Amino acid sequence: MAFVIDGKEAAASVITAVSEAAASLENLTGTKPGLAVVIVGDDPASHAYVNSKSRMAKQCGFNSIQHSLPEETTQEELEKLVRELNADPAVHGILVQLPLPKHLNSEPVIGSISPEKDVDGLNVVNAGKLATGDLASGLISCTPAGAMILVNKIHGPDLSGLNAVVIGRSNLFGKPMGLLLLSANATVTMAHSKSRDLPAICRNADILVAAVGRPGMVKADWVKPGATIIDVGINRVPAPEKGEGKNKLVGDVAFAECAEIAGAITPVPGGVGPMTIAMLMANTLIAAHRAAGRPIPKF
Ligand code: NAP
Repeated sequence: MAFVIDGKEAAASVITAVSEAAASLENLTGTKPGLAVVIVGDDPASHAYVNSKSRMAKQCGFNSIQHSLPEETTQEELEKLVRELNADPAVHGILVQLPLPKHLNSEPVIGSISPEKDVDGLNVVNAGKLATGDLASGLISCTPAGAMILVNKIHGPDLSGLNAVVIGRSNLFGKPMGLLLLSANATVTMAHSKSRDLPAICRNADILVAAVGRPGMVKADWVKPGATIIDVGINRVPAPEKGEGKNKLVGDVAFAECAEIAGAITPVPGGVGPMTIAMLMANTLIAAHRAAGRPIPKF
């Protein structure tokens, strides 16, 4: 049975380090990290995410600012709010919760966030820094940054000689994850819906990362014995065993069967998920340190 990587524990230790560094930054410079979270519309799942981000920011000792805008908000109104937050020196991190309602175009909104405050790491400036191997001066997308901490827990910081396969090539996760693994010297394959013989590609992976959005897609016979599996998928599926109409969250990996073959594996929930919010706090703290002209802490 594989070692189960505890994302909750890893996230809690990042949050402890962030809270301590935030307190010392405030003591030294008077700067209190500020995170502004913007949400448009009434989607309950998005509101739940945003509320937990705001709560965590408060727990870290940050100034937490939440802007809840009505569904009928226009593109111009949303971009105007982002411009105001860009200009506000008390705000170090800006997060616009995605997806936006259908009538809004997220790309120019994300593009208008100042790169120094882009704590989601989705702006092309930050994506470009990562793509050119500059991991030091930008902000790295939260979920891949968090997944990488879990990989490093098993393999250390240098992945020389290891084959990594990332299934999924989204800008949000797959591409930045592939680039982080490459920066750590892994030999990286990015697989996607057009890849031929995905099971064979995966069997070559010492580190297998699944970010597809298909429940239980990765099967035991896709897994190299002893491999590390990082399951990023979050899928809500019916759970009649919990009662009529009940659901549960599962990943993209068939956990029970793959855990028999793998060396280490992240569970869903409790794996990569908690790391995302922890890294959002870490990015806000980093942005606040840069704004205050202080050396940035490492996580
Ligand atoms: P996405 O934008 O929908 O991308 C999915 C990727 O999977 C695409 O690159 C797609 O390939 C690939 N794909 C789809 N079907 C495939 C198949 N049959 N075989 C191989 N590849 C296939 O999704 P995402 O935003 O990256 O998210 C992926 C999953 O991670 C979702 O379940 C999401 O909920 C989860 N997630 C979790 C967190 C977190 O833990 N906080 C954060 C982000 C995402 P093509 O490019 O060829 O279409």
